[in-house]
Amino acid sequence: MTSEPQNTPDQRPLDFIRQIVKQDQRTGKHLVPITRFPPEPNGFLHIGHAKSICLNFGISNEFNGTCHLRFDDTNPSKEEEAYVESIKTDVKWLGFDWGEHLYFASDYFDKLYNFAEQLIDKGKAYVCDLTPDQIRQYRGTLTEPGTDSPYRNRTAAENLELFRKMKAGAFPDGSRVLRAKIDMSSPAIIMRDPVIYRILRSTHHRTGDTWCIYPMYDFTHCLSDMLEKITHSLCTLEFQDNRMLYDWVLDTLETPCHPRQIEFARLNLTYTVMSKRKLLQLVNEKYVDGWDDPRMLTISGLRRRGYTPRSIRNFCAQIGIGKKESLIDMGILENAVREDLNETAARVMGVLDPLKVIIDNYPADRSETLTAQNHPQKPEFGTRELLFSRELYIERSDFMEDPPRKFFRLGPGREVRLRYGYYITCTSYETDDTGRVTALHCSYDPETRGGSSADGRKVKGTIHWVSAAHAIDGEVCLYDRLFDVEHPDGDRENDFKTHINPDSKQVLTGCKLEPSLAHLEPGSQVQFERQGYFCLDATLSTPGRPVFNRVVTLRDSWEKQAAPVQTKSLKQK
Ligand code: ATP
Ligand code: MG
Repeated sequence: MTSEPQNTPDQRPLDFIRQIVKQDQRTGKHLVPITRFPPEPNGFLHIGHAKSICLNFGISNEFNGTCHLRFDDTNPSKEEEAYVESIKTDVKWLGFDWGEHLYFASDYFDKLYNFAEQLIDKGKAYVCDLTPDQIRQYRGTLTEPGTDSPYRNRTAAENLELFRKMKAGAFPDGSRVLRAKIDMSSPAIIMRDPVIYRILRSTHHRTGDTWCIYPMYDFTHCLSDMLEKITHSLCTLEFQDNRMLYDWVLDTLETPCHPRQIEFARLNLTYTVMSKRKLLQLVNEKYVDGWDDPRMLTISGLRRRGYTPRSIRNFCAQIGIGKKESLIDMGILENAVREDLNETAARVMGVLDPLKVIIDNYPADRSETLTAQNHPQKPEFGTRELLFSRELYIERSDFMEDPPRKFFRLGPGREVRLRYGYYITCTSYETDDTGRVTALHCSYDPETRGGSSADGRKVKGTIHWVSAAHAIDGEVCLYDRLFDVEHPDGDRENDFKTHINPDSKQVLTGCKLEPSLAHLEPGSQVQFERQGYFCLDATLSTPGRPVFNRVVTLRDSWEKQAAPVQTKSLKQK
């Protein structure tokens, strides 16, 4: 029995592709839908790929189908085994499983070659000796038809002989190609005798030097889908015209199965670029520290930043699948991880820009333990102990020498609540030669243990703190968006890299963190109260020196109270 979902698992109505899949299941056309995610292993996956992964694997999960992972590896000069491995890791991490359905287009090279010979036999493909430039010139334009190649009318026998020689390595790279013989005056340029095989001596990461001719994308893709009996071949809108060629190849070869290609709008996000080619430039030209730099919108960058698989799946579900190109606000992605971590991240205290506080009326030889909740809205998260002593650190920005009336934190003579601790009042402060505040002197009220006063006295502000003697040192990286314009790709005059935000990374050393953080699992997330969500960097942290990446700020708390550390304000739309 196959199920028939009316809605996606989170109760959204079905998108147009799921409606088609559902209809095909109901009519019995495709009882078991088979989809595929077909990355080219020429870079790391990015958030745009996540949309396609969630769609293809999501459909297979929801409709009891199958989803294949197929590497589209027909361009050996740009592809690498390392990319294959990273893609597998990312798809799994996102929560999807291809089971036994792992394929490589390169596994079909023999079959593809035979299909090419069949096209030649049918008089539907020919070997062309024009140079790449000439091919371009002969192709025509959107307003002018193309011109037939002088080699177009070679006989099938001659073509077969030349093609076999191409395969045998008789000709230099780029000297000849195999072209489909379709229509040089077609309004669709893609149908003007597209190239389907080229000569290229380049060692392939799987087939080595077995081949010196390689099939082109359009020829490979439809036939790979057909060989795997894909039912719904889902791709992004820029492949709309390619569908004509997709169908032409399968129709001309009269294949037993003919998958249906359906296009949907790709994901575009503000303040980032999405193409692997551009991401590779950022890596190679050292604008970022590798593919998994926490500012990169790659899956590995998001993982290192502290995004959860669920937050990315939720984001993809929320933006949905449509036919119209759009630019999604980065804030929607940030909100998805904020919502997820709000549910799952334990609360801790960390002081990013420490200022020493001395509680003069607290004995120097004493310390005590206070009880803190790990998640104020979720008692099931339990509690932990915090050490309190005479010297503490608070956030430098929680003190002002001459605060305005509405500043509900510390200033001379002002009283504030220490989270889970006592009320303290600032009695004086010390400065250095430059006038910079170096320490505060405070008194505490022993009657306010745990954060409330017996006499009902109210204080408006609550601040976070750590005990100076017990705190651990750590480093914290704050990130802003990598580009300082909404649409870095949209600038026709300047290279996208001219829009890189020079202040996208701020490293804070000497942060003082509560001791419980010494035992945090690398890669896991916590909320630093009032500061945002942070992830313990699994690559940079060393024993005794944790490095935290800020995943995202607590936007809601920005609205209620000024957060101590904020990223630079972003340009408005
Ligand atoms: P890029 O342009 O970033 O290099 P690509 O399309 O060349 O990406 P592929 O490895 O060929 O990368 O893509 C694998 C699949 O992911 C394709 O089906 C493609 O349509 C899909 N995909 C790529 N980018 C996006 C995006 N921004 N939104 C949705 N799907 C995408
Ligand atoms: Mg591509």
